[in-house]
Amino acid sequence: MRHHLGYTVGAFSGPTEGDGAVATIIDGTAVAATIRQRAAARTAELRERGIEPCLAVVLVGDDPASAAYVRMKERDCAEVGIVSLDHRLPAETSQQEIDRLIDSLNDDPRVHGILVQMPLPRHLDAERVIERISPTKDVDGFHPENLGLLVRGLPGFRACTPAGVMEMLGAYGIDPSGMRAVVVGRSTIVGKPMALLLLEANATVTVCHSRTRDLPAVCREADLLVAAIGRARMIDATYVKPGAVVIDVGINRTDHGLAGDVDFDSVEPVASAITPVPGGVGPMTRAILMANTIAAAEAVA
Ligand code: NDP
Repeated sequence: MRHHLGYTVGAFSGPTEGDGAVATIIDGTAVAATIRQRAAARTAELRERGIEPCLAVVLVGDDPASAAYVRMKERDCAEVGIVSLDHRLPAETSQQEIDRLIDSLNDDPRVHGILVQMPLPRHLDAERVIERISPTKDVDGFHPENLGLLVRGLPGFRACTPAGVMEMLGAYGIDPSGMRAVVVGRSTIVGKPMALLLLEANATVTVCHSRTRDLPAVCREADLLVAAIGRARMIDATYVKPGAVVIDVGINRTDHGLAGDVDFDSVEPVASAITPVPGGVGPMTRAILMANTIAAAEAVA
């Protein structure tokens, strides 16, 4: 399993301790583009060996945001040379029908990765669907087996968003080793795997959530602060230690467009490095999905 794809796209001179230096804006779009380029080269190698990397994309219902995400992922597939097999199912699809589709994709040797776009309509059991996907095709890294491998520090598919954050840090030469890292959010797809990856990278990690007492004080201890909350612009400068690296995972739709969980305008003057929204973590998540799909194809090649 790769941890670092080994690109350097940005320069980061380290925490500034609030000396008034300008924060590095971590450019997720640029890092993601380099990951896709590398992915395209790996795809070409696979094709030379007669293997066509293939991602099956399953979309149930007609949620416009989900449909937009799926379109972007299909565009990424086209760019890096991955075949995307499109499965669009009506909102009233039964559990049995989606189970059957997953079984057939698991059994299909042409398919290397399976992506089921979340959220699923409420009558479907998302956990059951995730568990039904073969762990070897679980390129989202959500299957309990892959999460267990992460806990144990063994090779397996890592969830795309936290893995993308780690790649981004690596690309900017930000080494979490020895840092105090605070992750706000403990979801299975972002917060928990993020904390585990940072721990694996030798950070000293605190995980916060809605019951954390005096959240701003805990966050102010962070050399590296990751916000994965789902509350537009909640993390303002009062949460941030001068010189901290701030990673904003949040994607919130507001009346004024997309917003992260971090109040960029107030935090940027305090931080040493910060990700914007859009153009930060979002493109990285999609790029890692491509890299994971190629890794799945390479594993059976
Ligand atoms: P969840 O809703 O599953 O989890 C949110 C977490 O934030 C929970 O652990 C919750 O605590 C915590 N939380 C909520 N409110 C507060 C608060 N006031 N103070 C402290 N903690 C709080 O969200 P996800 O993890 O799925 O997503 C988080 C954000 O990241 C969303 O904006 C989402 O859109 C975005 N996202 C972005 C991706 C990307 O590619 N950039 C990919 C995936 C998600 P508790 O557990 O106690 O309820």
